[in-house]
Amino acid sequence: ADTALYAAKLSGRGRCRLDDLDSAELAHDLAQALSAGQVRAWFQPVVRPTTGEVVGVEALARWRHPERGCVRPDEFIAVAETTGLIGELGAAVLADACRGAVELARVHGDGLLLTVNVSGRELVSEGYAERALALVRASGWPVERLVVEVTESLLDASSGPALETLHRLRAAGARVAIDDFGTGYSAFSRLDTLPADYLKLDHGFTAQITTSDRRAGVLQALLSLSRALGMQVIAEGVEDEEQDALLGALGCPLAQGYLYARPAPVAELLARPAPAGTR
Ligand code: C2E
Ligand code: CA
Ligand code: CA
Ligand code: CA
Repeated sequence: ADTALYAAKLSGRGRCRLDDLDSAELAHDLAQALSAGQVRAWFQPVVRPTTGEVVGVEALARWRHPERGCVRPDEFIAVAETTGLIGELGAAVLADACRGAVELARVHGDGLLLTVNVSGRELVSEGYAERALALVRASGWPVERLVVEVTESLLDASSGPALETLHRLRAAGARVAIDDFGTGYSAFSRLDTLPADYLKLDHGFTAQITTSDRRAGVLQALLSLSRALGMQVIAEGVEDEEQDALLGALGCPLAQGYLYARPAPVAELLARPAPAGTR
Protein backbone atom coordinates (compact mmCIF):
# COMPACT_ATOMS: atom_id res chain seq x y z
CA ALA A 1 0.00 0.00 0.00
CA ASP A 2 2.85 2.37 0.82
CA THR A 3 4.42 1.88 -2.58
CA ALA A 4 1.13 2.56 -4.33
CA LEU A 5 0.77 5.82 -2.41
CA TYR A 6 4.31 6.86 -3.23
CA ALA A 7 3.72 6.07 -6.89
CA ALA A 8 0.48 8.09 -6.87
CA LYS A 9 2.25 11.01 -5.27
CA LEU A 10 5.22 10.91 -7.63
CA SER A 11 2.99 10.84 -10.69
CA GLY A 12 1.00 13.76 -9.29
CA ARG A 13 -2.35 12.01 -9.57
CA GLY A 14 -4.35 9.33 -7.77
CA ARG A 15 -7.37 9.39 -5.55
CA CYS A 16 -5.55 9.81 -2.25
CA ARG A 17 -5.90 12.99 -0.25
CA LEU A 18 -2.69 14.77 0.70
CA ASP A 19 -2.98 14.02 4.41
CA ASP A 20 -3.40 10.30 3.63
CA LEU A 21 -0.21 10.44 1.64
CA ASP A 22 1.53 12.27 4.42
CA SER A 23 0.58 9.79 7.09
CA ALA A 24 1.44 6.79 4.92
CA GLU A 25 4.80 8.35 4.19
CA LEU A 26 5.28 9.15 7.87
CA ALA A 27 4.37 5.60 8.89
CA HIS A 28 6.86 4.20 6.39
CA ASP A 29 9.61 6.53 7.59
CA LEU A 30 8.76 5.92 11.24
CA ALA A 31 9.09 2.13 10.88
CA GLN A 32 12.55 2.68 9.39
CA ALA A 33 13.50 5.22 12.03
CA LEU A 34 12.58 2.79 14.79
CA SER A 35 14.83 0.10 13.33
CA ALA A 36 17.61 2.63 12.95
CA GLY A 37 17.30 3.88 16.54
CA GLN A 38 16.41 7.41 15.44
CA VAL A 39 13.56 7.78 17.93
CA ARG A 40 15.04 8.81 21.26
CA ALA A 41 13.99 10.08 24.65
CA TRP A 42 14.65 13.71 25.55
CA PHE A 43 14.19 14.86 29.11
CA GLN A 44 12.51 17.78 30.81
CA PRO A 45 13.24 18.31 34.52
CA VAL A 46 10.45 18.20 37.10
CA VAL A 47 11.34 20.65 39.87
CA ARG A 48 10.21 22.11 43.17
CA PRO A 49 8.71 25.56 42.61
CA THR A 50 10.79 28.56 43.75
CA THR A 51 13.90 26.50 44.60
CA GLY A 52 14.16 24.81 41.20
CA GLU A 53 15.49 21.66 42.85
CA VAL A 54 15.31 18.82 40.31
CA VAL A 55 13.16 15.96 41.60
CA GLY A 56 12.57 14.06 38.37
CA VAL A 57 12.60 14.05 34.60
CA GLU A 58 9.86 13.47 32.03
CA ALA A 59 10.92 11.47 29.00
CA LEU A 60 9.57 12.95 25.75
CA ALA A 61 9.92 11.17 22.42
CA ARG A 62 11.98 12.89 19.69
CA TRP A 63 12.48 11.70 16.15
CA ARG A 64 15.59 12.82 14.33
CA HIS A 65 14.42 12.64 10.74
CA PRO A 66 17.19 12.86 8.12
CA GLU A 67 15.20 15.31 5.94
CA ARG A 68 12.51 16.78 8.14
CA GLY A 69 14.77 17.45 11.12
CA CYS A 70 13.46 16.97 14.63
CA VAL A 71 9.84 15.77 14.34
CA ARG A 72 7.64 16.52 17.37
CA PRO A 73 5.59 13.73 18.96
CA ASP A 74 2.27 15.42 18.18
CA GLU A 75 3.06 14.60 14.53
CA PHE A 76 3.96 10.92 14.93
CA ILE A 77 2.32 9.44 18.04
CA ALA A 78 -1.11 9.40 16.36
CA VAL A 79 0.38 7.82 13.22
CA ALA A 80 2.13 5.21 15.37
CA GLU A 81 -1.16 4.41 17.10
CA THR A 82 -3.16 3.92 13.91
CA THR A 83 -0.47 1.89 12.15
CA GLY A 84 0.29 -0.44 15.04
CA LEU A 85 3.82 0.91 15.54
CA ILE A 86 3.02 2.36 18.96
CA GLY A 87 4.11 -0.77 20.84
CA GLU A 88 7.54 -0.70 19.24
CA LEU A 89 7.80 3.05 19.66
CA GLY A 90 6.79 2.94 23.31
CA ALA A 91 9.30 0.19 24.03
CA ALA A 92 12.10 2.07 22.25
CA VAL A 93 11.40 5.30 24.15
CA LEU A 94 11.02 3.49 27.49
CA ALA A 95 14.34 1.68 27.06
CA ASP A 96 16.13 4.87 26.02
CA ALA A 97 14.46 6.79 28.86
CA CYS A 98 15.71 4.26 31.44
CA ARG A 99 19.24 4.37 30.02
CA GLY A 100 19.24 8.16 30.15
CA ALA A 101 17.75 8.29 33.64
CA VAL A 102 20.45 5.97 34.99
CA GLU A 103 23.02 8.55 33.82
CA LEU A 104 21.04 11.53 35.07
CA ALA A 105 20.64 9.95 38.53
CA ARG A 106 24.43 10.11 38.90
CA VAL A 107 24.12 13.90 38.88
CA HIS A 108 20.72 14.41 40.48
CA GLY A 109 20.87 11.65 43.07
CA ASP A 110 19.23 8.34 43.78
CA GLY A 111 15.82 9.82 44.50
CA LEU A 112 15.33 10.99 40.90
CA LEU A 113 11.96 10.05 39.37
CA LEU A 114 11.51 9.08 35.73
CA THR A 115 8.13 9.76 34.15
CA VAL A 116 7.13 8.28 30.80
CA ASN A 117 4.08 8.81 28.58
CA VAL A 118 1.99 5.80 27.70
CA SER A 119 -0.69 5.98 25.03
CA GLY A 120 -4.14 4.44 25.36
CA ARG A 121 -3.43 1.82 22.72
CA GLU A 122 -0.37 0.61 24.56
CA LEU A 123 -2.04 0.59 27.95
CA VAL A 124 -4.82 -1.74 26.85
CA SER A 125 -2.63 -4.06 24.79
CA GLU A 126 -2.39 -7.57 26.24
CA GLY A 127 0.57 -8.01 28.58
CA TYR A 128 1.67 -4.37 28.50
CA ALA A 129 2.46 -4.16 32.23
CA GLU A 130 4.63 -7.27 32.17
CA ARG A 131 6.52 -6.19 29.05
CA ALA A 132 7.17 -2.71 30.40
CA LEU A 133 8.28 -3.99 33.80
CA ALA A 134 10.67 -6.51 32.22
CA LEU A 135 12.18 -3.76 30.10
CA VAL A 136 12.65 -1.44 33.06
CA ARG A 137 14.20 -4.16 35.22
CA ALA A 138 16.60 -5.13 32.43
CA SER A 139 17.76 -1.52 32.21
CA GLY A 140 18.73 -1.37 35.86
CA TRP A 141 16.32 1.50 36.59
CA PRO A 142 14.35 0.87 39.82
CA VAL A 143 10.66 0.25 39.14
CA GLU A 144 9.84 2.24 42.31
CA ARG A 145 11.16 5.38 40.62
CA LEU A 146 9.15 4.95 37.44
CA VAL A 147 6.01 7.04 36.95
CA VAL A 148 3.66 6.12 34.12
CA GLU A 149 1.72 9.08 32.68
CA VAL A 150 -1.74 8.44 31.26
CA THR A 151 -4.54 10.83 30.35
CA GLU A 152 -7.67 10.88 32.42
CA SER A 153 -9.92 10.21 29.42
CA LEU A 154 -8.51 6.65 29.34
CA LEU A 155 -9.81 5.92 32.78
CA ASP A 156 -13.54 6.30 32.46
CA ALA A 157 -15.91 3.58 33.54
CA SER A 158 -15.57 1.72 30.25
CA SER A 159 -11.81 1.24 30.47
CA GLY A 160 -11.47 -1.89 32.58
CA PRO A 161 -8.35 -3.15 30.77
CA ALA A 162 -6.57 0.21 31.23
CA LEU A 163 -7.33 0.22 34.96
CA GLU A 164 -6.22 -3.39 35.23
CA THR A 165 -2.84 -2.50 33.66
CA LEU A 166 -2.37 0.43 36.03
CA HIS A 167 -3.14 -1.77 39.03
CA ARG A 168 -0.52 -4.26 37.88
CA LEU A 169 2.10 -1.55 37.43
CA ARG A 170 1.34 -0.10 40.86
CA ALA A 171 1.39 -3.54 42.48
CA ALA A 172 4.94 -3.89 41.13
CA GLY A 173 5.93 -0.57 42.75
CA ALA A 174 5.62 1.81 39.81
CA ARG A 175 3.57 4.99 40.17
CA VAL A 176 0.89 6.57 38.02
CA ALA A 177 0.34 10.18 36.96
CA ILE A 178 -2.82 11.59 35.40
CA ASP A 179 -1.58 13.76 32.52
CA ASP A 180 -3.30 16.85 31.10
CA PHE A 181 -5.53 17.21 34.16
CA GLY A 182 -7.87 20.17 33.78
CA THR A 183 -8.60 19.76 30.07
CA GLY A 184 -12.23 18.79 30.09
CA TYR A 185 -12.76 15.35 31.52
CA SER A 186 -11.54 16.29 34.95
CA ALA A 187 -14.07 15.80 37.71
CA PHE A 188 -13.11 16.56 41.27
CA SER A 189 -15.73 14.10 42.45
CA ARG A 190 -13.94 11.21 40.74
CA LEU A 191 -10.43 11.99 41.89
CA ASP A 192 -10.57 9.53 44.77
CA THR A 193 -11.44 6.70 42.37
CA LEU A 194 -8.41 7.20 40.12
CA PRO A 195 -5.45 4.85 40.68
CA ALA A 196 -3.02 7.77 40.68
CA ASP A 197 -0.09 9.15 42.66
CA TYR A 198 0.45 12.37 40.69
CA LEU A 199 -1.84 14.85 38.97
CA LYS A 200 -0.32 16.82 36.12
CA LEU A 201 -2.03 20.15 35.65
CA ASP A 202 -2.31 21.01 31.99
CA HIS A 203 -0.51 24.04 30.49
CA GLY A 204 -3.82 25.69 29.77
CA PHE A 205 -4.74 25.59 33.44
CA THR A 206 -1.33 26.80 34.63
CA ALA A 207 -1.49 29.71 32.19
CA GLN A 208 -4.59 31.05 33.96
CA ILE A 209 -3.56 30.81 37.60
CA THR A 210 -2.03 34.28 37.59
CA THR A 211 -4.67 35.89 35.37
CA SER A 212 -7.81 34.63 37.09
CA ASP A 213 -8.47 34.64 40.84
CA ARG A 214 -11.10 31.98 40.30
CA ARG A 215 -8.52 29.69 38.65
CA ALA A 216 -6.12 30.30 41.53
CA GLY A 217 -8.97 29.36 43.86
CA VAL A 218 -9.59 26.12 41.97
CA LEU A 219 -5.88 25.33 42.17
CA GLN A 220 -5.88 25.95 45.91
CA ALA A 221 -8.83 23.59 46.35
CA LEU A 222 -7.21 21.01 44.09
CA LEU A 223 -4.00 21.16 46.10
CA SER A 224 -5.79 20.53 49.37
CA LEU A 225 -7.94 17.77 47.89
CA SER A 226 -4.92 16.05 46.35
CA ARG A 227 -3.06 16.27 49.67
CA ALA A 228 -6.00 14.62 51.40
CA LEU A 229 -5.93 11.83 48.79
CA GLY A 230 -2.17 11.35 48.99
CA MET A 231 -1.52 12.66 45.47
CA GLN A 232 1.07 15.21 44.39
CA VAL A 233 0.26 17.94 41.88
CA ILE A 234 2.75 18.72 39.10
CA ALA A 235 1.97 22.06 37.42
CA GLU A 236 2.98 21.85 33.75
CA GLY A 237 3.85 24.63 31.34
CA VAL A 238 5.27 27.06 33.90
CA GLU A 239 6.70 29.87 31.79
CA ASP A 240 7.14 32.87 34.08
CA GLU A 241 8.36 33.88 37.52
CA GLU A 242 4.93 35.02 38.62
CA GLN A 243 3.44 31.56 38.08
CA ASP A 244 6.41 30.01 39.86
CA ALA A 245 6.00 32.34 42.86
CA LEU A 246 2.26 31.66 43.13
CA LEU A 247 2.81 27.88 42.95
CA GLY A 248 5.35 28.20 45.73
CA ALA A 249 3.04 30.35 47.85
CA LEU A 250 0.14 27.91 47.43
CA GLY A 251 2.35 24.94 48.32
CA CYS A 252 2.24 23.18 44.96
CA PRO A 253 4.84 20.43 45.39
CA LEU A 254 6.12 20.08 41.81
CA ALA A 255 6.35 21.96 38.53
CA GLN A 256 7.66 21.71 34.99
CA GLY A 257 8.05 24.22 32.21
CA TYR A 258 10.26 26.34 29.98
CA LEU A 259 10.96 28.67 32.93
CA TYR A 260 13.02 25.92 34.55
CA ALA A 261 14.24 23.96 31.53
CA ARG A 262 13.25 22.91 28.04
CA PRO A 263 13.33 19.24 27.01
CA ALA A 264 16.87 18.25 25.98
CA PRO A 265 18.94 15.17 25.16
CA VAL A 266 20.67 13.52 28.10
CA ALA A 267 24.14 14.69 27.02
CA GLU A 268 22.99 18.30 27.08
CA LEU A 269 21.52 17.95 30.57
CA LEU A 270 24.72 16.32 31.81
CA ALA A 271 26.81 19.14 30.34
CA ARG A 272 24.96 21.78 32.38
CA PRO A 273 26.43 22.98 35.63
CA ALA A 274 25.28 20.91 38.62
CA PRO A 275 21.93 22.19 39.89
CA ALA A 276 22.21 24.67 42.72
CA GLY A 277 19.86 24.37 45.65
CA THR A 278 18.35 27.75 44.81
CA ARG A 279 17.70 29.68 41.65
P1 C2E B 1 2.64 16.05 27.34
O1 C2E B 1 2.86 14.71 27.94
O2 C2E B 1 1.56 16.88 27.92
O3 C2E B 1 4.06 16.75 27.41
C1 C2E B 1 4.25 18.12 27.64
C2 C2E B 1 4.53 18.86 26.35
O4 C2E B 1 4.65 20.28 26.64
C3 C2E B 1 5.84 18.48 25.70
O5 C2E B 1 5.65 18.62 24.29
C4 C2E B 1 6.80 19.56 26.21
O6 C2E B 1 7.91 19.76 25.35
C5 C2E B 1 5.90 20.76 26.22
N1 C2E B 1 6.31 21.78 27.21
C6 C2E B 1 7.10 21.64 28.30
N2 C2E B 1 7.20 22.80 28.99
C7 C2E B 1 6.44 23.70 28.32
C8 C2E B 1 6.14 25.11 28.55
O7 C2E B 1 6.58 25.75 29.51
N3 C2E B 1 5.30 25.69 27.65
C9 C2E B 1 4.79 25.02 26.58
N4 C2E B 1 3.99 25.69 25.74
N5 C2E B 1 5.05 23.71 26.34
C10 C2E B 1 5.87 23.06 27.20
P2 C2E B 1 6.15 17.50 23.30
O8 C2E B 1 7.48 16.96 23.75
O9 C2E B 1 6.05 18.04 21.92
O10 C2E B 1 5.10 16.32 23.48
C11 C2E B 1 3.76 16.46 23.07
C12 C2E B 1 2.93 15.31 23.53
O11 C2E B 1 3.29 14.10 22.86
C13 C2E B 1 3.09 14.99 25.01
O12 C2E B 1 2.32 15.89 25.77
C14 C2E B 1 2.60 13.56 25.07
O13 C2E B 1 1.19 13.54 25.14
C15 C2E B 1 3.05 13.02 23.73
N6 C2E B 1 4.29 12.22 23.90
C16 C2E B 1 5.56 12.65 24.04
N7 C2E B 1 6.41 11.63 24.17
C17 C2E B 1 5.66 10.50 24.13
C18 C2E B 1 5.95 9.09 24.24
O14 C2E B 1 7.10 8.66 24.41
N8 C2E B 1 4.88 8.25 24.14
C19 C2E B 1 3.60 8.70 23.99
N9 C2E B 1 2.61 7.80 23.92
N10 C2E B 1 3.30 9.99 23.91
C20 C2E B 1 4.30 10.90 23.98
CA1 CA C 1 3.20 13.88 29.84
CA1 CA D 1 0.60 17.16 29.92
CA1 CA E 1 -0.66 16.08 26.02
